[in-house]
Amino acid sequence: MADGNGHKPGYDIEAESGITCDGCEVPVMANCESCGMPMLSPEQYGGGNAENRYCLHCCNSDGRLKSYEDILEGMVGMMMNNRGMDRPAAETAAGEYLATMPAWSSR
Ligand SMILES: [Zn+2]
Repeated sequence: MADGNGHKPGYDIEAESGITCDGCEVPVMANCESCGMPMLSPEQYGGGNAENRYCLHCCNSDGRLKSYEDILEGMVGMMMNNRGMDRPAAETAAGEYLATMPAWSSR
């Protein structure tokens, strides 16, 4: 590990301590298979269950994956807000993005 920034192999970031360090990558446990969001703590998994393959945004409160239409709508809204896209452009971009995700690629 000669990456030059002094990280010791096996160094443990205490996820719940609230300590963050610019330049340190937060360990990613998994990515949501529906929207690709990194899930960094059990609370970010659907239903609070770290066995879930989907994040809390993509699941109902009981931890089950929402419908494609719900996920698409959420992503369209996010793209319009975050990227200033208009709805037709956001719908196209969201549809293309979701088509690359394991949860939706076989639709
Ligand atoms: Zn998700």
